Amino acid sequence: MLEAGSIAVVGVASDENSSFLRGTAAAPEHIRKALHCPSSNLCAENGVDLSTAPGWQLVGDIGTPEMQPSFDQIEEAIQDLVEADVRVISLGGDHSITHPIVRAHSAHYPSLTILHLDAHPDLYDQLDGNRNSHACPFARIMEEGLADCLVSLGIRTTTPHLRDQADRFGVEIITASQDWRPVVASLQPPLYLSLDLDVLDPAFAPGISHHEPGGLSTREVLDILHALPHPPIGADIVELNPDRDLNGLTAMVAAKLLKEILAGMLG
Ligand code: MN
Ligand code: MN
Repeated sequence: MLEAGSIAVVGVASDENSSFLRGTAAAPEHIRKALHCPSSNLCAENGVDLSTAPGWQLVGDIGTPEMQPSFDQIEEAIQDLVEADVRVISLGGDHSITHPIVRAHSAHYPSLTILHLDAHPDLYDQLDGNRNSHACPFARIMEEGLADCLVSLGIRTTTPHLRDQADRFGVEIITASQDWRPVVASLQPPLYLSLDLDVLDPAFAPGISHHEPGGLSTREVLDILHALPHPPIGADIVELNPDRDLNGLTAMVAAKLLKEILAGMLG
């Protein structure tokens, strides 16, 4: 039973808009398995014990890797939850899913601020002819006016086209080498968090499709989550590619980040 105010953790089995490698559609089950791995426990760093804390639930997946959901199906499924006042943490899937997910939130939460953690700005107008590519979601989100403010943090692959797009949409880009603290401290509610695991250095998270050196450490990303001035009203964790993972390490990192996001939202 999902009560108003509770949190649903939902998988989104979608990787058809990945530009380089497929595989992220299988990620949700790997993250859930890592979350319940007996090598660790369900206590978050703020002291919340997710094994006993009420108010959150794993609710399965939208689609399967074989029968992947359309953007409309993703939007409708998330919208049903958001309209019931359930807060949603979505587990991708590739980053294209953030467009229909943010659409589902924007009607309920006008004036959204999005904090986007990623190696890539994901602002391409199109990639390989696909306007729904996982390299494009934030171009679509800003074109449609779904967010008032977009802060992209951890960025280290900006091309001239992407810089033009960032200027055009007023995106605040914080590169991987810049101090994120002042910007994070000034984020306004309602806040949506979109976490592409490739914001992490591939040394910390090898199980992703696009290995982009020079990224953040797991500790830095945890510090960002703990520094958020308001709990997010919704979040996604995307781009785990289990085919590329080593000993389930990246799935464990994703599960840890999920745990800390959940505990922050519950706390
Ligand atoms: Mn991305
Ligand atoms: Mn990325």
